[in-house]
Amino acid sequence: MDEPSVRLSTGNIIYPKTNLISDDYEISNTVLGLGINGKVLQCHNKDNGQVYALKVLHDSLKARREVALHWRVSGFRHIVSIIDVYKNSYNGNVCFLVVMECMRGGELFQRIQNQQTGAFTEREAAKIMQEICSAVKYLHDRNIAHRDLKPENLLYTLPDQNGVLKLTDFGFAKEVNVHATLETPCYTPYYVAPEVLGPEKYDKSCDIWSLGVIMYINHGQAISPGMKKRIRTGQFDFPDPEWSGVSKDARDLIRGMLCVNPAKRLDIDQVMCNQWIAKYGEVPETPLYTGKMLKEGEETWPEVQEEMMRSLATMRVDYDQVHIKSLNNSSNALLDKRRKKNLMNVLKK
Ligand code: ADP
Repeated sequence: MDEPSVRLSTGNIIYPKTNLISDDYEISNTVLGLGINGKVLQCHNKDNGQVYALKVLHDSLKARREVALHWRVSGFRHIVSIIDVYKNSYNGNVCFLVVMECMRGGELFQRIQNQQTGAFTEREAAKIMQEICSAVKYLHDRNIAHRDLKPENLLYTLPDQNGVLKLTDFGFAKEVNVHATLETPCYTPYYVAPEVLGPEKYDKSCDIWSLGVIMYINHGQAISPGMKKRIRTGQFDFPDPEWSGVSKDARDLIRGMLCVNPAKRLDIDQVMCNQWIAKYGEVPETPLYTGKMLKEGEETWPEVQEEMMRSLATMRVDYDQVHIKSLNNSSNALLDKRRKKNLMNVLKK
């Protein structure tokens, strides 16, 4: 018999419904989108006839983590809502069926691309960034890092002006352990200095990097030919004419979010305090080239997406899963310095 609740190692508990989803929903063949875990299908509630989106996940630790973390934050305005979760078996395979609000407005950049030339302004870009940043702040305040923040995971509820932008896909989300001791992984992924930063800050810093890339693209930088290289190397520049009218505040914010060293990168509170985000309604209404650039770069867009995916995968090293050297045994110049400093402090007391 199905257990009524599913406990996770982190202490999260999912309470899925265990009756058949087909009791409550009509599942259609309409595919809303394709992801790495399979299709997202359209479904209808049998009681009220409303349309929803259905994501099917095979039971695994990763799937449980996704469902539990997404569910926990699903009430926030800029995060896609979960309506119901079912745990059903098909031919002996246990699945989680996640019913979400249906995002009919499509992806963020598709929408910008469809706007008329001149209609998309720096103020509009600031509003969008404020909304995405508020979702990230909501997560980071709850010690959750999304770790897969990319344009495909930012969807609008409706295609018209009433559409609300929301973040989805918690497939790589992680509850960051604030109590983790300062330990040294036996290899150093990407540019990180975890002994300086601590694992919880590192996981969150990936989301800030994503925000920086999204904001950079949002400002209408040509997609082709250099974007892939910029993403890979972290060398983002601000050439004319695309950037000539863009405010200094916006450029400084992008620099702060794309800082190659995650220890020096802004955190979400610093981002939210930045005047360009905090006072987005006062940002100049300078027309941006974004729609035109996205249209012209349409062919290269999949390569940009792939590069972002690759960079995120590189950054997403789970410190708690790699072999960890004990702090006492590890030899590292910085740690040595810190140990000596601590010793000095103890001796001074
Ligand atoms: P995966 O984790 O397998 O990558 P996603 O959650 O990213 O799956 O969903 C894959 C695609 O399905 C998205 O890029 C989007 O186009 C579509 N999609 C996801 N959720 C919804 C939703 N709630 N409403 C409409 N379309 C959705």
